[in-house]
Amino acid sequence: MLSIAPGSFAPCEGGSVEATPVEASADTRTTPLGIEAGTSGAQTIRPDADILLVAGAGWTKKQADGQVHVDTAADLILDFVETNRASLGSSKSMVDLASEGQAVLPFLTHLHQIGQTGSSPRHTKGLATCCHGEEPHAVGWRFINERRAINTDAACGWAQGKADVLYVADAFEVMRKVNERLK
Ligand SMILES: Cc1cc2nc3c(=O)[nH]c(=O)nc-3n(C[C@H](O)[C@H](O)[C@H](O)COP(=O)(O)OP(=O)(O)OC[C@H]3O[C@@H](n4cnc5c(N)ncnc54)[C@H](O)[C@@H]3O)c2cc1C
Repeated sequence: MLSIAPGSFAPCEGGSVEATPVEASADTRTTPLGIEAGTSGAQTIRPDADILLVAGAGWTKKQADGQVHVDTAADLILDFVETNRASLGSSKSMVDLASEGQAVLPFLTHLHQIGQTGSSPRHTKGLATCCHGEEPHAVGWRFINERRAINTDAACGWAQGKADVLYVADAFEVMRKVNERLK
């Protein structure tokens, strides 16, 4: 039997299924042969993690040097999430970029979306990066005890009382340092 977690792969379209009846006896024992993680999505969503890292659309925008740095963004985000066994969330704008064909982080799916039309996770701590903190997004943070955000814009939504701490800084620089220190 092969079990695939929701969101791991794009849904199959079309095709047909041939059902093969299998007779099972009560003394059958299951022997797991292994676990193979999918290439996208669900395995970075960890409801039991202490910390949530949220990736906003700013990660895919042109930066101070006039260039986009999506590969670097992906490395920094995944480095933090995997090293700290953190859970990964996203803003709607970031998720929507995929359907618009723009450069996106390939491991993000609609399952990561947090907010009014996404999920409302319950982690102890949350860190929003390159995410503006607009109300439809921030409402998804209502169950998170300690909210922090990194944004280059001192007047972003998080600054309007939606975060406990706002670091007005470049998330690329901050997360690089954070990842170095946590190793
Ligand atoms: C009915 C409705 C429902 C919605 N539901 C949701 C929902 O469930 N979830 C949701 O997320 N949104 C939802 N939205 C959309 C929401 O209003 C925002 O448009 C969305 O959250 C913005 O996403 P963002 O902050 O990632 O992108 P942007 O608004 O593009 O913000 C990007 C941010 O990145 C910052 N940035 C850029 N580069 C850097 C850098 N190097 N370092 C630090 N910061 C940087 C910028 O200053 C900017 O603030 C909904 C909207 C509507 C109308």
